[in-house]
Amino acid sequence: MEIRLLKSSFDDDGSASNHQHTACFVVNGEVAFDAGSLAMAVGADRPNVRDIVLSHTHLDHIAGLPLFVDDLFSTLRSPIRVHASRAMIEALRTHIFNDVIYPNFEEIENDFGKVLQFREYEFEREFRVSGLSILPVKVNHNEPSAGFMISDASGSIALTGDTADTAAIWETASRRDDLRAIVIECAFPEQMSRLASTARHLTPLGLKAELEKLDRNDLPVYVVNIKPMFREQVVAEIDALELSNVRIFPVGGLVAV
Ligand SMILES: [Zn+2]
Repeated sequence: MEIRLLKSSFDDDGSASNHQHTACFVVNGEVAFDAGSLAMAVGADRPNVRDIVLSHTHLDHIAGLPLFVDDLFSTLRSPIRVHASRAMIEALRTHIFNDVIYPNFEEIENDFGKVLQFREYEFEREFRVSGLSILPVKVNHNEPSAGFMISDASGSIALTGDTADTAAIWETASRRDDLRAIVIECAFPEQMSRLASTARHLTPLGLKAELEKLDRNDLPVYVVNIKPMFREQVVAEIDALELSNVRIFPVGGLVAV
């Protein structure tokens, strides 16, 4: 399985920054998990994505979605499919695709038909998209939020999305014999643990505690969704924990597991 974390910001010289402002992971070149920078990120994956699976509707996870539909509007021969919970779909209809913030792309058709379609998923019920089996699991963040068990023929990964301390995804992951890797958030440094708790995110010590719930430490763990203003500090604190299997997911990079 191949996972790419799309870039989302620029350095002063115009080159891509390693600061992650938004979240968008493209798996096997075709399925996007969240759409924070889907329209903005330049990449070979972009034209092939037609399925977007949402973890929750915070802006940093959906910012690129309306722009992505807009960009591809005239060329789409089948609709972009957004897989999300009922509450997330309602939030997008009410607050984004409402003809105020952005056009209602569910209603506007191009020459070939519909351009945007919502597909509702249920937590704890696996569904298939483009060669992937996806199990949404509730995590401890903005209600409702999902982490995912994502599987293809090569094995499974656990992707936590945004979350504070949580349980179900680790119980599910522990039961998977084919688990290949963990992709987990760590937003804030330790000195901001109170804010992390309020905003329901992890600090490095929280990350360590979460990984101990998995009951095995032989799998590669990739850290994502680090708040850009604190990236260097969070990375240094994670390094200081000396967790041998934990590494930082390179922003704009591809990880094969
Ligand atoms: Zn969030």
